[in-house]
Formats: sequence, C-alpha cells, structure tokens
Amino acid sequence: MGRHASSVRLGNGLRVNLISDPAATRAAALMQVDAGSYHEPLAWPGLAHLLEHMLFRGSERFQAREGLMNWAPSQGGRLNATTQATRTFFFFEVGPEQFDAGIDRLIDMLSAPLLATEALAQEADIIDAEYQLLRTEGETLCEAAQQQAFDGIAAMHRFHIGSRAGFGEDMAALRHALQQFYQRHYNAANMTLWLQGPQSPDQLRAVAEEYGARIAKGICPPAPGVSCAVPVGDRTLDLPGAPQLRLTFALNQPPATQRPWLRLLECLLLDEAPGGLMAWLRAEEYCDAVRLIHARCGEACSLLTLAFTVIRGTAAEAAAIEAALFSWLEQLTGLSERQREHYSRLANRAFDRLAPLEQLRANAFGLPPVQATDKWAERIAMLSSASMSRLSVRPYAGGEVTEYRGLPLKLTPFHPESAAPATRRFTFFPVDVASMHGATSSIGHAPLKHLPQDEGAPILLLRPAPEVLFEEQRGYLLQAALRTLAAELAHQDGHLSVERHQGVWLLQLAGEDTLMCRAVTAINRRLAAMSPAMQRDATRTCRRAQAREQGDIAIRRLLAQLPAALSAGLMPGLVSWQATLVGGNEVLRQGLAYSLNDFPEPIVPAGEYRIRTPAERVALSENGDENARLLFYPLPDTSAAARWALQLLAQLYAPRYFQRLRVDLNIGYVVHCAYYRCVDVEGIFFALQSPQYTVTQLDHYTAAFLQQMERELAQLSDQELAAAKNILLRRQSRPSDPGIPHARENVLENNPSPEYLEQLNRDALSFWHRRIFTRF
Ligand SMILES: [Zn+2]
Repeated sequence: MGRHASSVRLGNGLRVNLISDPAATRAAALMQVDAGSYHEPLAWPGLAHLLEHMLFRGSERFQAREGLMNWAPSQGGRLNATTQATRTFFFFEVGPEQFDAGIDRLIDMLSAPLLATEALAQEADIIDAEYQLLRTEGETLCEAAQQQAFDGIAAMHRFHIGSRAGFGEDMAALRHALQQFYQRHYNAANMTLWLQGPQSPDQLRAVAEEYGARIAKGICPPAPGVSCAVPVGDRTLDLPGAPQLRLTFALNQPPATQRPWLRLLECLLLDEAPGGLMAWLRAEEYCDAVRLIHARCGEACSLLTLAFTVIRGTAAEAAAIEAALFSWLEQLTGLSERQREHYSRLANRAFDRLAPLEQLRANAFGLPPVQATDKWAERIAMLSSASMSRLSVRPYAGGEVTEYRGLPLKLTPFHPESAAPATRRFTFFPVDVASMHGATSSIGHAPLKHLPQDEGAPILLLRPAPEVLFEEQRGYLLQAALRTLAAELAHQDGHLSVERHQGVWLLQLAGEDTLMCRAVTAINRRLAAMSPAMQRDATRTCRRAQAREQGDIAIRRLLAQLPAALSAGLMPGLVSWQATLVGGNEVLRQGLAYSLNDFPEPIVPAGEYRIRTPAERVALSENGDENARLLFYPLPDTSAAARWALQLLAQLYAPRYFQRLRVDLNIGYVVHCAYYRCVDVEGIFFALQSPQYTVTQLDHYTAAFLQQMERELAQLSDQELAAAKNILLRRQSRPSDPGIPHARENVLENNPSPEYLEQLNRDALSFWHRRIFTRF
C-alpha cells in the first residue's frame, strides 16, 4: 500500500491536507497561516516575527514548560517555525504514538495563546539578538541585495526582522498591536493544516476534525491587490567569502507561485552527469556549485534565483555562465516526454527519501514533488522570457555602506559584458550510458565484512579505519573525484555518495548487484586517476566549508572544531579503509571483495566495532560580542551499561539544563545539552552562548548545574526514570529509515542491547554521573 493524499475543508473553514503513508515511521504536522511580514502594520516592523516567537511562550492549556517547544524535543521529536513574506509556518515531527499530544499542543498555541507581557520583553530581546547576528549573515545580505534591485512591491523594502528599538519600551502598546495582528490573521479561513504519518486516511481525518475545529472561524482578510516585481538594474555586493553570481527572475504571471515544476528544474540544474550544464561549467572552471532559491512575494508573484558559486567573480565569467544557462534553458524546452519522466522520477525519488516533516515543508513552502509535465515547455519559456536582475557577489568590490531593510549593504552597479551566444549542445538522460566495464588487474579479495539482512537493497560502506587521521581535504577530494560517476549512477537507479556523518567520512554505494560491482571498478579507476583540477576543486570546497563555519554563530563555530579536537590523538599517516556490506548475498559479497582488491588504498579487516575513549574533556571557547563555551565529556568506558547510562543522563539533563540556564537564568539564547557522537567518540556536550556572561561564569553555571544534578539523581522518582528509559527504548526500537541511514547506523553506531538499559537504576546512574563528570 502506498501513500494516499486527500484534502478536506472543516466546518470552521480550515483547509486540511492529509497524507497517509503506511511505511512512515514518524508523523508530522504543519500549520500554514496566510499572513507574513508583508502584512505587518507600518508602525510595527517585525511584528509577524515577534508573534511567531510569542506563540511558543505558553497557551491556555499548556504553560511554557509543557508547550510544544519543550515537549517535542523531550519526546525525541523536532519542531520549528518560519515567518516568510506572505505566510507563516509552524511544524513538528514526533513518533506516531505522540502525534495526538503534539497536535493538541500545536492547535492550543495557535488558537489560545497567552501572549503574556512578561514573555514579551524577553522575546523582543531574543529577536534583537537574532537581528544583530543576521546583520553579518551572508545569505541574508545576499537576499536583501537581490530584492533591493526590484520595484513594484513596497512591503519588500521594509524592515521585517524586528529589533528592541523598533518594538519600543511600551509593552502594553506592543501587546495590543500583537493581539490585533493575531486576531486579524489567525483564524480558520486563513489557515491550512497539513498532517502526514503512518495512520490511515480516516484516522488522520479524525485527528484533523477533533483538534482543527478549535481554531476560531473568522473571515479571510481582503486579499491585497495584485502587484508585480520589476527589476531596476544589476548590482555588485561586497561580501567576504566565495564569489557568487545570482540571477534573479521575476515571475509575475498567474502560475508564478506554482512550485512542482521547480523541483524538476532543480533536478536538471543540479545534475552532475556528463553532458549537463554543471559538468560543463565545472570543466571550464567557471563555477563549483549552483542553488535554486524560490521566494513567494505575493498572490501572483515570486522571485526565482539561480545562485552560482563562481571561481573568479569577473564580468566575463558572468557573461559566459549566463550565455550557457540561456542556451541550456532553450534546449530544456525540447525535452522529450520520456526524458521529462526520467528526470521527474529522479527528482521525486529524492523527495520520497525525505522525512515526513521535510516532505510537509517541501509541499507547503519548498519544492513539492513533480506531477504532470505537460506544461513544461511553457514554464521554461516563461522563465527564459522573465525579466531578470544580476547580482555579482565578491569580496573587495568596494562601495559605501548603506542601510537597507535594517541591513548594512555595500552595493555598486554591476556592468554586464555581452558574450557570444553559446552554441554548445547539452545532453540529457536517458541515453545509452557509457559502459563502466574495465578489467580488474590483480587477483585476490579485499577483506569485506558482511552484515546479512533480510530486507532492503544491499549497501556497501567504506570508512577510513578509526585509528588513523583522515583530513577534511581528502574527503572533499573523494567527492570531487567521484562526482560525475555518482550522477551517472543516479540515472541508473544507483546511489553513490561521499559524506561526513558523526565526524566520519563515508563512501556509500547502493544499487542492484551488477551495477554495484561495475561501480566499484569505476570508483577504483577514478580514484587512481585524480587530476590537478580535482585537487583545486577540493581545495576550494574545503576553504568554502571553513569560511561558512567562520561566518556562522560562535557556538556552531566551536561545534565545527569538535571533530578536529577529538582527532588530536590520531596518527597522521597512510590511510587505510574498512569495508562493510550490509544486506546482499554471498555471491555479491565475493564479487565486491574481488573488485575492491583494486581500491587504490589498503583495505583492512573491519573487525569488531569499537569506540575510542580519550582521557581528556574537550573545552572550546570563544570571546567576542557573544561569549561561547562548548564542553564535551567523553565516555570513559565502552561497556554497554556505560553507553546506555550516557544516553540516559543526556535524556534527563537536556530539558533541565534548558530550563535552568535558558528560562530561569536567561544566560543567552543558546543553551543546549545533548548526547553526541563524533569521530568514534561518544559523550555529552554542553553548549552555551551569552552576550553578558564570561566563559568563566558560564563554566560556573554548568558546574553548579552538574552538582545540582548529582543531588537530583539521588532523588529521581521511579516514574521519571522509567519515562526517560521508555523514550530511549522507543527511539532504539523505531525502525530507522531503511536503506542507507539504517546501514550507516549499523556501521557507525551499533547500539548496545536494550537489556542493559533496563538494568540501570538510580545508583548506577549516580555512579556513571561521577565517572563521566567528576574526573576533570
Ligand atoms: Zn526568530
């Protein structure tokens, strides 16, 4: 039985979209409100964003601690919200058993919020802190610079983030404005609820009816007049980091806000297979990456940006890319039905792999799955003929700083060069794929561990052996060397990727048996023949990743240093690999072991699963406008009891740490305690970022917290202990997504048997608390 989608409209006018997916292991809900920043009254910039924050601060039946914000993570779930130009979205994902309790909280916060005055000043401060961070955030500045080049939509040019100064000191007046905005827009006629989970369509519908009916009826506010975005020139933005060319198209015709065709366009755009646009742009060393960004800015208007990460940032380079793009778009209109179907399948396969929450997000405001492609040529023609603005982004471009939408921008005009129209022919799949055959030169078999499995397609995983230092740059080099092969395999229903998970670089291969064996031979060949251009590609990617980390908030910069800090004891030297086949039969294992014998670096037996236990605690810190502190306590012992105790302690401490330091003491808006696994080390981290406290003071708070926990552990009720164990057990027994994530879990995590968790009592927990925390 497959996925089943339906829509209903409740008596109060609430639109409901239901997606029943019997195979799903998680359930998700999303509420769309048809009002966003553009609907704010002129006197209150940031009001929509502030309301989004305030709705999480307690409702009639759920005070802050019981509300969705604290509840969902304590159940192993996730949640978030986003305020956009014309819409606001609230969403969460939990296990199916917790779904009703989650919806209850979501609907209560949206239909009966307290909007308490005490919380208002706090949230205004939090938004101010966000605003200060966004003033230096590259993506925010690029988006503002792009929109600065369009006329026609007045609200687009206003400040929407919100700031302490903008909200003012009169909390009563602010609360009044908030309530008015809330009453005007937050009613059933103006909202859409999305539910997705393994429940049957009838069950989902019953949930929607029971809880959705609580939303007040209300009337739809009158729709604003239709307006169009009109480009008024090309710009250069001075910004540190990798140069970019961002081409933004104004889509103003009626299908402008429809999005399914964009997933197909994105799939074609991002395709790295030989003969495509990206392969050509890379081969010419014009560009390293491209992204498609869609921004809805009205009832019949959206801006579509193609953001190329370029290499030089010159006008000549921009002209060459633009010429290639338009020639490629023209050829796209001629795709045959068979080709459109092939790419749609590929695009939707990526969609199908998303977790329910990401699927809902894609459906509601991202790129939904491709449906019909009969209007494809019209859509592409609309894009090619849409008016466009160019934004060249590069460091040291110069210009005066001017404030636009509350953001400091250094903008100057960009003067495009004209390029000869490109005459290049691009190729599209399906075509007869170049054969990947090749003789294997040596005789013998590489050691290949086999974890047989009843269900699912076989997956081959290669990882560097844990004892040896594996540098980041090498990971990026593998990516560069295998990029076009990975894309070719995707067109044949295979999968090849090189990714870092939990600080460990992994080569992941899946597909049907003969494809896998051929792919290993192709991998060997590509890795043995790496070119200087691939080295340059990897160096740029590595540098960009580091620059991205530098541009991030302080605490994430510290988190990004954790793999290196935990690798400090590892030996540099010859890298060897461990190979594991998850699933598949013995014939496949032998075939792969034979092909892997020619892998250009040594493959060593994978042996028993192991965790490293470094003797030192990792303590990273940063001083600046905000002081940040990251403490990572590694597990000192690899027994199953120790590993479970670690997870259980993290489960108990996470909500308490948040409550003490974030809510009670309000030390700053980053307060996080969690179980964490990184480069084969397990531990608990404590992360803090604060505008007012020093690192020493922050350490004092964490130390006091840990002392307090030692006392609380001794008094922990049986009930609470059982509840925390249950959450861990549920997480463990929950079948992870089949396929690669599951295989990865086997190879990287190898969770201990749950019987050891059941045996843990208060005394054992106290013992492990002392062993983990008091030895430093
Ligand atoms: Zn926010």
